[in-house]
Amino acid sequence: MRPKAILFDVDGTLAETEELHRQAFNRTFQEFGLDWDWDPALYRDLLAVAGGKERLLHYIAAYDPPDAARAEASLADLHAAKTRTYADLITAGEARLRPGVARLMLEAHAAGIPVAIATTTSPENVEALLATAGRDVAHTVAVIAAGDMVPNKKPAPDVYHYALERLGCAAADCVAIEDSAAGAEAALAAGLPTVITRSAFTEPGPAERVLCVLSDLGEPDAPFVRLAGGEEREGEGMVTLDLLRRWLAD
Ligand SMILES: [Mg+2]
Repeated sequence: MRPKAILFDVDGTLAETEELHRQAFNRTFQEFGLDWDWDPALYRDLLAVAGGKERLLHYIAAYDPPDAARAEASLADLHAAKTRTYADLITAGEARLRPGVARLMLEAHAAGIPVAIATTTSPENVEALLATAGRDVAHTVAVIAAGDMVPNKKPAPDVYHYALERLGCAAADCVAIEDSAAGAEAALAAGLPTVITRSAFTEPGPAERVLCVLSDLGEPDAPFVRLAGGEEREGEGMVTLDLLRRWLAD
């Protein structure tokens, strides 16, 4: 049986947006005259704290950077400026969809299989990202479950429960695409067969409980690399509806 719907996470899964969040923080620090620089290694550690404001406070408390008191006093302004800068980066087309994402969305749509978004990021960020992906891709998305539409954020399953209810589908008949441990936990807790496409900033998480952990969804000229989980299939290299059907049948 082919999946009845495909549910995508956003940050790290649709695009490597964490890198843009990092750049937006650094640009904002400069703008505010703060001599702070979050390199990729540091940012990977800081991502353990969910929420931009919370992340800033954690950095101040744990790293005691220069001008900490001044920054803490203007925290709301800092974060608002960062959010604007991030939106500008997205709108400027700095976030390209990861390999295979648009291809799989379009294949699903052509086959009458709805695509849904299930994310903790804000609906505005999702819309902005989808707008840069083009009308055909944006048009495949039947349901957006995002941000504060549910009380508990990932790793709680709420956002997936909400999306499945809107889709009218049973979890076991669908597939979730995630990049992080917290995201995969949320999808698994909702009962969704899950594929992890590892991203630059996140640990992929529970390989033994997901369908597989892949480098990405793969393209005809750039097949995915299977990193963990599942059994290799002959000729695999792109996540397609047919490959998902075979994984679900196992
Ligand atoms: Mg993610």
